Amino acid sequence: MSDFIPYGRQNINQQDIDAVVSVLKSNWLTQGPATERFEQTVAEYCGAKYAVAVTNATAALHISCLAAELGSGDWLWTSPNTFVASANCGLYCGARVDFIDIDPQTYNLSVDQLEQKLIAAERLGTLPKVVVPVHFAGQSCEMDRIAELAQKYGFLVLEDASHAIGARYKGQPVGSCQYSDLAVFSFHPVKIITTGEGGMVVTNRADLYEKLIRLRTHGITRKPELMQGKSHGLWYYQQLELGFNYRMTDIQAALGTSQMQRLDKFVSRRQQLAQRYDQYLQVLALTTPYQHLDTNSSWHLYIIRLQLEQVTKTHRQVFESLRNAGIGVNLHYIPVHSQPTYKQLGFQWGDFPQAEQYYREAISLPLYFGLTEEDQDRVVKTLRDVLGVFVAQSQI
Ligand SMILES: *Cc1c(COP(=O)(O)O)cnc(C)c1O
Repeated sequence: MSDFIPYGRQNINQQDIDAVVSVLKSNWLTQGPATERFEQTVAEYCGAKYAVAVTNATAALHISCLAAELGSGDWLWTSPNTFVASANCGLYCGARVDFIDIDPQTYNLSVDQLEQKLIAAERLGTLPKVVVPVHFAGQSCEMDRIAELAQKYGFLVLEDASHAIGARYKGQPVGSCQYSDLAVFSFHPVKIITTGEGGMVVTNRADLYEKLIRLRTHGITRKPELMQGKSHGLWYYQQLELGFNYRMTDIQAALGTSQMQRLDKFVSRRQQLAQRYDQYLQVLALTTPYQHLDTNSSWHLYIIRLQLEQVTKTHRQVFESLRNAGIGVNLHYIPVHSQPTYKQLGFQWGDFPQAEQYYREAISLPLYFGLTEEDQDRVVKTLRDVLGVFVAQSQI
């Protein structure tokens, strides 16, 4: 039996290890100078003014929603084709959550659907306070159109860019926040760069930045100018609102800064592997990922959609055959509205037909920096064997 090929994995080199070890030998272990350096590195890379490192992207989404003053009676809208965290951040704040069905080509939230839903919500008085576009698989949403709608309908744009550090939109790095108020990255090991666990919020808005740094540390400030009344002395701090301990450690941040040195290399290798998949999968009964002209994906995921009418197996049989052959395929994502937590809130299967149809056909193939061409060839060959080579009528 040959080795199992995972769908994603981190790449750690000696420079990463040395960076972590040097923090371990220093005076600071938790949030300190290495965290500041990591924040600066990411902010500069993205062309954003401010960056706030936190424990993970879920925490980043949570404090972003709190900074936006999302609360009970408010609405947060996002895509159903995402990890649950993109929606849960709304529930954490006591807000109500709704979804916008996906575009059948990009698998990102459909901006046409968003616009229709906004028109209806305006009539009903249920406009969202926060919209969370998710840059699915590393491909940016159509941010110019979303920004226009944000202006018109007065919502805040929080990009869930967990998949998309190193990606570009209209030539600008994702995270520039040119078309949004806030953007969030994840540094989980399967994402583009890693800190073990970790996340970050980037923004150009000083008001949001001030709130984010407080919310990351219990809502506490040491700045006398922000306090009620006078400071009691050098030891004094005040808690201005209810915050959390979402601090990143310097151990993690040092790893993050070191990983940032290879970000462009990571992304270009992923892109190269994606192009190789595109080329070798052409003749099979499946749809390869569509790329919008305005975007350069970071290629977090490479997703195929089975053309099931051309295949004698079911989606599940294809998935299981690949797993049995040691190919670590995965499925991103189970539509969030179909999760029991969301069903309890009144959602049901049938509510977002494009995301559901996608779910019946999608498979994520292995894609990561260290994937060798030999392993990729094995993935392709196994997929060919499982599906059978399909030649379209027009090509015969
Ligand atoms: C991974 C991921 C998250 C959560 O990231 P963590 O760092 O694990 O909290 C949120 N949204 C999306 C789209 C993700 O893929």
